[in-house]
Amino acid sequence: MQEPQTVKAHDLSFELMISEKEIQAKVEAMGEILQKKYKGKNPLFLGVLNGSFVFTADLVRAFGGTCEVSFIKLSSYSGLESTGEVATVIGLTTDVEDRHVIVVEDIIDTGKTMHDFLPTLKNMNPASVAFATFLLKPDAVKYKFPIEYIGYEIPNKFVIGYGLDYNERGRNLRGIYQLK
Ligand code: 5GP
Ligand code: MG
Repeated sequence: MQEPQTVKAHDLSFELMISEKEIQAKVEAMGEILQKKYKGKNPLFLGVLNGSFVFTADLVRAFGGTCEVSFIKLSSYSGLESTGEVATVIGLTTDVEDRHVIVVEDIIDTGKTMHDFLPTLKNMNPASVAFATFLLKPDAVKYKFPIEYIGYEIPNKFVIGYGLDYNERGRNLRGIYQLK
């Protein structure tokens, strides 16, 4: 299916920024790097809902090796802007003690969501923690922490698609679309 160049979500128009084909190649490459790095370690991929459900599904299949997958749900966004408050909507149900955890994010914007969650995670004594984010907005980052795996660095503009939404619309778009 040919992906559209422009899409509408609610009242706003968005234009194609990263195509499905580019995304596939990028995620495959990241999966291979992770597979080498975590060989024999049975890592736990911890997807951050809702946005990362698509990227997590692709990344764990690109990884290919033995691994486990779980999700948490955190929320800081409403509409186009971060509320600045991070709420845990669904907590960690998997035991992470002595596990190699790879936190999978759709996008890191200010960094607050992950920065706030990191101490909670570290308190549970994982063997290691690494971050894999599909997108990073370097100009928006206010809370710094090491991010080991980054798909794309993008300008500080609102995007949807590949799991990311604008008020719940656009998550099922195959590409990444930027606000016009
Ligand atoms: P942070 O806590 O790093 O500021 O924000 C992270 C969360 O904000 C992401 O997981 C995502 O849900 C949301 N977010 C940040 N930037 C964007 C964006 O450009 N588009 C969408 N749809 N969500 C975003
Ligand atoms: Mg998210």
